[in-house]
Amino acid sequence: MTRHTENDDDEAEGTDEPHGGCGCGGTDGTPQPNVPEIGRDERPAIFVPDDGDEARAAGSDSAGSSAANGPAEPTESAATDAPRTATDGGVESATGGSDSTELDPDAYDPIDVFPEGDLDLRDGADSCYKCTSCDTSCPVAEVDDEFPGPKFQGPEQWRLKRKGDHDIDESITSCSNCMRCDDACPSSVPLSQMHNEARGQFVEEQMEKLSVEYVRNRILANYRTSARLASVVPRLSSFAMNFGPARWAMDKVLGIPKERDFPEFATTTFREWWRDRGGAQVENPDKRVAYFHGCYSNYNTPEVGKAMVRVYEHFGYEVMVPPQKCSGTPMFANGMLKDARRHAETNVENLVEAIGDGADVIASCTSCSMSLRQEYPELFDIHGIEDVSDHTFEALEYLRIHEDLDEALAEARPEDDRSFAYHAPCHARNQGLARQAVETFRDVDGVELEDVGDSCSGISGTYGWKSEKYEKSMQIGEEMFDHMEAAEGEVGMTECPTCAMQMEHGTGYEIEHPLQLLEETVVA
Ligand code: SF4
Ligand code: SF4
Repeated sequence: MTRHTENDDDEAEGTDEPHGGCGCGGTDGTPQPNVPEIGRDERPAIFVPDDGDEARAAGSDSAGSSAANGPAEPTESAATDAPRTATDGGVESATGGSDSTELDPDAYDPIDVFPEGDLDLRDGADSCYKCTSCDTSCPVAEVDDEFPGPKFQGPEQWRLKRKGDHDIDESITSCSNCMRCDDACPSSVPLSQMHNEARGQFVEEQMEKLSVEYVRNRILANYRTSARLASVVPRLSSFAMNFGPARWAMDKVLGIPKERDFPEFATTTFREWWRDRGGAQVENPDKRVAYFHGCYSNYNTPEVGKAMVRVYEHFGYEVMVPPQKCSGTPMFANGMLKDARRHAETNVENLVEAIGDGADVIASCTSCSMSLRQEYPELFDIHGIEDVSDHTFEALEYLRIHEDLDEALAEARPEDDRSFAYHAPCHARNQGLARQAVETFRDVDGVELEDVGDSCSGISGTYGWKSEKYEKSMQIGEEMFDHMEAAEGEVGMTECPTCAMQMEHGTGYEIEHPLQLLEETVVA
C-alpha cells in the first residue's frame, strides 16, 4: 500500500522507470556486518512526529518526574550495568575541561541522571563516565575553541535538558555530524543520536525561521531540490553557479563561501542514463540489488552509478533502481528532521518493496548507507525501517561479502598503472569499512592505493559549505591534504562525494570512487 507522505517540494524520482523483474522469494537474510550494535540496537527509536510532539512530551513528562526528584545519585544497578571498557590510555580533554585525567574506568562513577523511566536517551546518558575520549576524537573541537565538544553536546546536554527548563545550547549547530565521537566512546553512549535529536529540537524550537542562517541551512540541507532544478539546464547552471559575481553575492547574502567551487551538473543524470539503456541488462531473481544512488551520483557523478551497474552486472546481479529521495544526511546535519522524515518515508516505502522482491539495498555513498542503516532506525519510527536497515550495505562492502573479489582481481590489471591517495570517509569508519578499498586492491598488479591516514576531511557534508565554518573546515582537512600530497599517487580516491569535493579543493587532484577502479580492472 502506498503510504501518504506530506507534500514535499517534489516527487520521488523514477516511478515510471524500468527495474529488474520481481517475484522471487525472500533474501538470504545475511546479517549486516560491521554495524555498531552494542548500545544501539536495543535502544528505542525516537519518534519525531510531523506535527505535535506526543512521544517527546511523554518522554519529558517521565523525565520531568525524575527531575522533580532532584539529581539522582548513582544507583548500584546503573553502576553495575554501565559498560566500563577501557580504551587506550590517558586522555586530555580537547576543550581543556576539568575532566582531563588518566583514563581508568574504575575511577569513574556513571552519571546516573535518570534512574527511572523507559524512553529516550537516558540509558545512553547514564552510561557516560566522563572519560573525554569523545572530546579528544572530535575534529571540530580541535579547531574551534568555542565548541564545547561531544560530551557536552551529548550526555551533559541531555542531563541539563531533563533537569529543568534548559534550552538546547546553540553550539549544537557547530557539530558537523561526522560521527567520529561514536566510534571513540568506550561506553557505547549514542552520541550522534543525541546530537541529531538535540539539533532537531534546537532548530524546531529555538531557531529563527526567517534568519539568513536558517534559510541558508535549509537550502544546503535540501541539495536534491537545487540539483534537480539545476539539472534542467546543467551547462548553464554549472556556469552560473560558479560565476564570480554570483559566488560573491552568495557569500555575502547567504553565507555560502565564495572560495568553494560548485560541482558540475551532469548533462545526463544517472536515472536518465538508466532509463535510456532500458534498465537492467541482467535478470536474476537469485541475485538482486536495489541501488540507492543518492543525489550526488544522480546529478553530479553518474559515472559512479554507471560503474556500479556494470560491475554488479558483471557479477551476475540484477540491478533495480527504485524511486527515491535524498537519504537525509544533510538534513540530519542541519537539524531539519521533519524534512528528513518525509524523505525517509518515501525511501523506506520503496526500498521495502524492493526487499520484498528479493533485493538487498546497496549505496555507493557511505553517508547514504550510514543514514539508511543507522540514523533512520535511531531517529524515526516508520513501518519497515528495521528491514531497510538490516538489508542495507555499502556497494563495495556487499561485493566483498558475496563475491570472491580476490579471485576476480587475481588476473586483473588496469590498462595503465594507477596510483591513488585514498581517504576513508568518517562515515565509512563508523561502519567498519575504513580499510576495505585498500584491502580490495592491495594485490592488484599495476594498482597502488596509499591510505592517507585517519583524519577527517573537514567538509562533513554541508559543514564546510558555510562561510563561518570554511576556514575551520580547511584547517581540519590540512592533515589529509598534506598526506595526499606526500603520497605517490596524484589521483585521490574516496567513497564519499563531499570528501571528494574537499580533497579536490585542497589538492587540485581528480578524485575517483573505488567502484570506478573496480570497473576498470574487472569489467573493462
Ligand atoms: S559528530 Fe563529529 S563534530 Fe559532532 S561532536 Fe561528534 S566528533 Fe564532534
Ligand atoms: S560519552 Fe563516552 S567517550 Fe564521551 S565522556 Fe562519556 S563515556 Fe567517555
